[in-house]
Amino acid sequence: MSVVDKSVCTTTGCGKPAQLQCPTCVKLGVEGSYFCSQACFRTSWSTHKSSHEVSNPKSTYDPFPTYRYTGPLRPVYPLSPRRPVPSDIPRPDYADSPDGVSRLEQSYRNAQIEVMSGEKLETMKRVCQLGREVLDAAARAIKVGVTTDEIDRVVHEAIIECKAYPSTMNYYSFPKSVCTSVNEVICHGIPDQRKLEDGDIINIDISLFKDGVHTDMNKTYLVGNVDKKYKKLVKTTRECLQKAIDMVKPGVRYRDLGAVIEKHAKANGFSVVRTYCGHGVGRMFHSAPNVPHYAMNKAIGIMKPGHVFTIEPMINQGNFQDQTWRDNWTSVTVDGKRSAQFEHTILVTEDGHEVLTRRLPTSPPSQLDGI
Ligand SMILES: [Zn+2]
Ligand SMILES: [Zn+2]
Repeated sequence: MSVVDKSVCTTTGCGKPAQLQCPTCVKLGVEGSYFCSQACFRTSWSTHKSSHEVSNPKSTYDPFPTYRYTGPLRPVYPLSPRRPVPSDIPRPDYADSPDGVSRLEQSYRNAQIEVMSGEKLETMKRVCQLGREVLDAAARAIKVGVTTDEIDRVVHEAIIECKAYPSTMNYYSFPKSVCTSVNEVICHGIPDQRKLEDGDIINIDISLFKDGVHTDMNKTYLVGNVDKKYKKLVKTTRECLQKAIDMVKPGVRYRDLGAVIEKHAKANGFSVVRTYCGHGVGRMFHSAPNVPHYAMNKAIGIMKPGHVFTIEPMINQGNFQDQTWRDNWTSVTVDGKRSAQFEHTILVTEDGHEVLTRRLPTSPPSQLDGI
């Protein structure tokens, strides 16, 4: 039992000063249940225990009951408390700001694309591989019945273990260390108490900050037995990313990647999300260039050796349009149909490119082989 300050015993008819608190209440965060002694606690137990049900994490709820959801997925609250990052881990500038705004990113808004070389580039390569290890750890945690919050715990601990900072944590106030986007969620899903179900698809988007640079990558995974039509969506999305990556070399215009992605998506009967784009990544989490995934875009910039950026197409089964849940983050399809995404961080080299977040010899086998 935990010791607390002046209170009165909650046992009916007792009223003595009480300093002991029920350990279950402490764990659940239920306030106000104090007892004067173990004896009183025991006599009150049969009635007291019902107060645990109210705040039990098992009694979950929809935080936006009046919102018209576009599909079957619901947020399952309460969110777990924010996971702390040890103070000896170096943090990006937005980590402790009240609004989570990155002043660094704001001040570089219309700047040139950064060229990385030498020591900085070596650091970037190393940090991208670390990120990949974390993504693989998350992948191993995926199974039917596991909550997305549990995946967040796995990711958070793996990142801390690397002495790195989870880039999404407090970024424009995002509350968690990873984005988990299930089924009709396009991107930026917040890990919560929803358990993964047989047949789900889930995107895990990992980003971390270490030695002064960020890395960013994501993959969509199949949970249990996934319907053929969803497998096709996931596979096509991976192919869209690959076709864009294959184009990357010095002299190519960033605006030209979208046409290749959209062509392949459309050929398979799918559509391309326009609201969210790939981006420069390095000293900042998001910087120039802007990399749209749709055709006929007007993105600025030509690839040069030393550019590091992401390509991360989001491909929808139905309508390309998105809307955002009232948590101000979770982006979903307007028709509730499913969406998939894959993302890599890519370096432009002298004669082509290097996928910095590519799979490692230790990575789990691809789920898409043979589909
Ligand atoms: Zn990402
Ligand atoms: Zn990204």
